[in-house]
Amino acid sequence: MSHPPDSQPGTPARNPALFSSALPSYLKPDDLGPWGIYLQQVDRVTPYLGRLSRWVDTLKRPKRSLIVDVPIHLDDGSVAHFEGYRVQHNTSRGPGKGGVRFHQNVTLSEVMALAAWMSIKNAAVNVPYGGAKGGVRVDPRQLSLGELERVTRRYTSEIGILIGPNKDIPAPDVNTNEQVMAWMMDTYSMNEGTTTTGVVTGKPLDLGGSLGRREATGRGVFTLGLEAARLIGLDVASARVALQGFGNVGGVAAQLFAHAGAQVVAVQDHGGCIYRAGGLDVPALLAHVAHCGSVADFAAAEPLANDAFWDVPCDILIPAALEQQITAANAGRIQARLIIEGANGPTTPQADDILHERGVLVLPDVIANAGGVTVSYFEWVQDFSSFFWSEDEVNERLMKVMKGAFATIWQVAQQHRVSLRTATFIVACSRILHARDLRGLYP
Ligand code: NAD
Repeated sequence: MSHPPDSQPGTPARNPALFSSALPSYLKPDDLGPWGIYLQQVDRVTPYLGRLSRWVDTLKRPKRSLIVDVPIHLDDGSVAHFEGYRVQHNTSRGPGKGGVRFHQNVTLSEVMALAAWMSIKNAAVNVPYGGAKGGVRVDPRQLSLGELERVTRRYTSEIGILIGPNKDIPAPDVNTNEQVMAWMMDTYSMNEGTTTTGVVTGKPLDLGGSLGRREATGRGVFTLGLEAARLIGLDVASARVALQGFGNVGGVAAQLFAHAGAQVVAVQDHGGCIYRAGGLDVPALLAHVAHCGSVADFAAAEPLANDAFWDVPCDILIPAALEQQITAANAGRIQARLIIEGANGPTTPQADDILHERGVLVLPDVIANAGGVTVSYFEWVQDFSSFFWSEDEVNERLMKVMKGAFATIWQVAQQHRVSLRTATFIVACSRILHARDLRGLYP
């Protein structure tokens, strides 16, 4: 190969545009969805990363993104195709870890953001994992149980080239549960010819699951909610709580807050919104949802228009459903003093700024909902050692990890005078990029 006369031998002339850190072609720089929000969050933290900031472009792209076709036979004999994804955002600190979501609106961009937030979360609580996430673009409410099982098994088989107990470990997320994890574990095990319980977490107890895992995310939301409330002088025992989302995370958090004396005054889910100024009967509402599938039509409450949820008089607001719910359009109306993000990515950066100016404390997703992955880590450790812990032991260790991580983040927030979200990103990005720096680049 001949070289242009003004270049060094061995160093061909280069078009700088092709050697920049510009995003890969499939990542839109103006993404307005969760991935775009995540990128803005990384930009906000970069000035605090010191010499590690030279690695920051690593965080702005996923390590691996897999799109798979998930064809299944429907019960009537016809064939339907669904789109599935598994993204490993970063594995510098350990194997990928993150849930699998079944939802009709799942996109690759959303799964990339959820995978990236897992990298941040796992580093924030210092569990030895990278970040990953998966999803299938399907509405499971429109599938029979048999069809749901076939979607799960085919999806698991298709992402089998990425997952494994030392490679990438899925867990439940929106619309997936212990049964889905059991099918995933079985499918992977059948393909491998071994019973590999540690390939997923959030499994049933009889298949290597951990006591306390199902409740862990809601318990973590409650535990850190108590810490944050104490720091701003808010008495939880007399607080009014509003929740968006009443599934695994929201349902458990509501139970724990009600048990601590708080009044759960409003709940919104995919089916509707309800309100009761004097406090809802949480156990009765849980039973209603288990029976009817939604909080809508709960007799002992007033129905509320969905948008009116954001004006409800309350002290604590817990988004526990989907992304981008608290936006510039409603952040100014929220009456709560404390927002605890059970959901991933519920608040846009513009809403974050409005809430910050109004003095509302936001306990960000990347630490507030880390209880689930923390107990997933405990489950994985128990599976590897085939030695299982009592529920008290699990909960005690969970509290220790969550409170320790929160204390560090609170101190960093005070030191740099930044929000808890930026503080969490400072702690987490520093850990990830320090690992990257130590490992160096291969080859
Ligand atoms: P889930 O499927 O058990 O519950 C989801 C809830 O959100 C349901 O009550 C549903 O009705 C409600 N919902 C869905 N669409 C809605 C809409 N448009 N408006 C209002 N409500 C709506 O899911 P989950 O496991 O409780 O997850 C909830 C959130 O918490 C997600 O953001 C998830 O990523 C996050 N999260 C979950 C875990 C976990 O361990 N399950 C861990 C960390 C974070």
